[in-house]
Amino acid sequence: MLTRREEITRLLESTEQPMTAQEICDILDLRKRSIVYEDIDHIARTVRNQGKEVIVKPASCGKCHYMFKVKDSAKAPTKCPKCRSEWILAPSFLIRMKK
Ligand SMILES: [Zn+2]
Repeated sequence: MLTRREEITRLLESTEQPMTAQEICDILDLRKRSIVYEDIDHIARTVRNQGKEVIVKPASCGKCHYMFKVKDSAKAPTKCPKCRSEWILAPSFLIRMKK
């Protein structure tokens, strides 16, 4: 049996395209995206010791294409600071060997 964090790690290592927290929730049958964001935070620290890294494609605004900082993406922003739109494209994640 893998722990939830191990399962997320495995998913992010094997995925071709970066995955959003919602996609991870759907696959692993989790209820809350906030759990995934929290786990990814931990996973980022764990995989660093294995020579890997979590690559974050930052959240962006669907209206004005404002790009959030990676640091802010992990908390899943809900509003664009520039145009105030709430149409936010979720950040997505994958894990790769560190170059
Ligand atoms: Zn915007």
